[in-house]
Amino acid sequence: MRTVYVNGDYLPENEAKVSVFDRGFLFGDGIYEVASVLGGKLIDFPAHMARLHRSAGELGMRFAVSDDDLLAIHRELVRRNGVEEGVVYLQMTRGATDRDFTFDTEKLTPTLVLFTQSRPLIDTKVARDGMKIVSIPDLRWGRCDIKTVQLLYPSLGKMEAKARGADDAWMVRDGVVTEGTSNNAFIVTKAGAIVTRPLSHSILPGITRATLMQYSRENGTAVEEREFTLEEAKDAAEAFITSASVFVGPVISIDGVELSGGNPGPVTLGLRKTYLEESLKRAL
Ligand code: PMP
Repeated sequence: MRTVYVNGDYLPENEAKVSVFDRGFLFGDGIYEVASVLGGKLIDFPAHMARLHRSAGELGMRFAVSDDDLLAIHRELVRRNGVEEGVVYLQMTRGATDRDFTFDTEKLTPTLVLFTQSRPLIDTKVARDGMKIVSIPDLRWGRCDIKTVQLLYPSLGKMEAKARGADDAWMVRDGVVTEGTSNNAFIVTKAGAIVTRPLSHSILPGITRATLMQYSRENGTAVEEREFTLEEAKDAAEAFITSASVFVGPVISIDGVELSGGNPGPVTLGLRKTYLEESLKRAL
C-alpha cells in the first residue's frame, strides 16, 4: 500500500483524508504540480516549484510551506514508496471552510496533499508507436496559464479522443491550436525548426516545453515561438507533445491525417533522446 502525504503526516493511502468542506473539492480552488521521477530522482524539480508559486500568487493563495520542505517531502515519498520511475503528484488548495463563494484566505490553512504513482515513463507505447490526435474546440476558462485542478474539460476531451479512436486531443481556439488536453503542442517544419505557440493566458507554461526549447536552442535546432493552425500542423513534417510524464511524445496523425508516414519522426525522437539525457544529468 502506498504512503501518502497529507498536511504534515505520512499515512497509508486508505487513511489519508481531507475535509468535505475543502475548497479544492467544492470549488476547484486548488493548484497542482506533477514532477516525474527517473532512476529515483526528480526531473525539472525547481521549475515545477517555481510554477507552483506562480499559480498560488495568481490566485492569492497562501503558500505555507518552504521549497526545502517540499523537496524533502517529495524525496521522502519517493523513498517510502520505492519509486524508480513514475510521478509525484502535489495538490495545494486554499483550505477548508463552510461553503461560501467568498472567502478570507488569511483565516484558511492551505491543504497540502502529495502522492506517488509508479509506472514506466521511458519505455512506453506512446514513445514507441506515437500518438493519434483529434482536434476539439478549446472551451476552457480564460486563465489556462494557472495550473488549477479544474480539469473537467480536459478530462472529457481525452475521453472524446479515446471514443474517436485516438490517444489525445489538441484544442483549437480562434483558428489556432492552443495545446493538448494535458500537454503542450509542437510541430516540426519541413526546414527542421520546431514551432510552439507563445505563452499567454490561453496555455499552461509547460515546464517540459521550456526545458526542451532551451535544450533545442543549445543544440542548434531552430525554435519558432508563434501560433499555428490545424492545417499547418497537418501539413508539418512532424508533430509532438511535451509534458512532465510523457517528456516528448511523437504525434503520428491529426484528425486522421498521417504525419511522418504514420511513424514517430526523426527530429522528435532526437529531441526526446536529448531531453532524457540532459534531464537525467540535472535530476535531483
Ligand atoms: N498543458 C496542459 C493543459 C497541461 O495540463 C500540462 C501538464 N500538466 C502541460 C501543458 C504540460 O506541462 P508540463 O510540461 O509542465 O507537464
